Amino acid sequence: MGKVIYGKKEALKIRKNIRDKIEKMSASRPPGLEVLIAGEDPASVYYAGLIKRAGTKEGISVNIKQFKELGTEEFITYIRALNRDDKVDGILIQLPLPENIDGEDIFDILSPQKDVDGQTPLNQGRLITGRKGIFPPTALGVIKLLESNGITIEGRNAVVVGRSATAGIPAAKMLLDRNATVTVCHSKSRPLEPYTAAADILVVAAGRPEMVGPAHVKKGAVVIDVGTNEVDGNMVGDVEIERVLEKASVSPVIGGVGALTLACLFENIFEIYKKHINSISA
Ligand code: NAP
Repeated sequence: MGKVIYGKKEALKIRKNIRDKIEKMSASRPPGLEVLIAGEDPASVYYAGLIKRAGTKEGISVNIKQFKELGTEEFITYIRALNRDDKVDGILIQLPLPENIDGEDIFDILSPQKDVDGQTPLNQGRLITGRKGIFPPTALGVIKLLESNGITIEGRNAVVVGRSATAGIPAAKMLLDRNATVTVCHSKSRPLEPYTAAADILVVAAGRPEMVGPAHVKKGAVVIDVGTNEVDGNMVGDVEIERVLEKASVSPVIGGVGALTLACLFENIFEIYKKHINSISA
């Protein structure tokens, strides 16, 4: 029988630390985060609300702007204005973008210094080349979840299911940087079980409800469930948690990676804010 791997306690610790640091800086304004939603994706609207409620508690000023109908050019014009706005430290562009908006164009013009989600080519390149930068909070959350639970990464066989730029690829690179041997699987990795069942650490970020069952998992493995899927009004992960727990340790869909993703987003905002405030007062 495995353990449930929680992230909530560590997330609250990180958030308290950020709140204390913001208070201690006693700057003329709080950290400013703009959350942009293009279109009407319900998960994006929900997540933006969550960020605003949690951010406000920690002393971060969060402004949500939703554009129900707008094209790439107007979106770019809006982002350019935010890039220049001194009161805005971080800009979070919610994904997925609607089909009429060109994501590549958007992330090409977003200021890498305000790219709180680590999605600009510069920050992604910095991650891949092993330099300092602003990196995707979800992937940082996966690493924090492992490390805060005392799970050794070095020398382990890690398998990541999913290769998105926000979750799978950055998580794989961060595991590699910590000396795991990493395999990345995707929708064409067929059959999936031989890959996943070889993992000491299995990270699942596919967005497919309960796609990973006991047959996908090695006895004694650690399974990090990144997936969040709404099924009949309930939030379920990519892992069949109850059955997989009989042979491995698993993170829950609530109080697992998600809690740390939010905390890592706030850490990213705080780091940008600190640089920004220090550059103004220098
Ligand atoms: P995404 O952009 O849709 O990417 C999904 C990835 O999973 C793709 O690489 C896809 O492969 C792969 N995949 C899909 N079905 C598969 C299958 N049956 N077998 C193997 N691989 C499969 O999604 P995402 O943005 O990375 O998000 C993934 C999940 O994590 C979603 O449920 C999302 O809501 C959740 N999420 C949670 C957090 C959190 O903090 N907990 C944060 C971000 C995202 P291809 O590349 O071949 O299409």
